[in-house]
Amino acid sequence: MMFSKKEKPLVAFTVQKCQSCKKETKRKFEEGDCLFAPTLECTSCKIPTNISKIFGQPIE
Ligand SMILES: [Zn+2]
Repeated sequence: MMFSKKEKPLVAFTVQKCQSCKKETKRKFEEGDCLFAPTLECTSCKIPTNISKIFGQPIE
């Protein structure tokens, strides 16, 4: 069986979620990002958000 690997490179994204207003923000993955780790602060609440998801998306 052939392992069909697409040549399309993936870009990693990080979704950060504010525990206060529940707003989710998608941004580019940065070195050191770790699932559920505290990250940048929410722009409206001024409290640290937590990373809720890390995923890869093919470059369009
Ligand atoms: Zn917030």
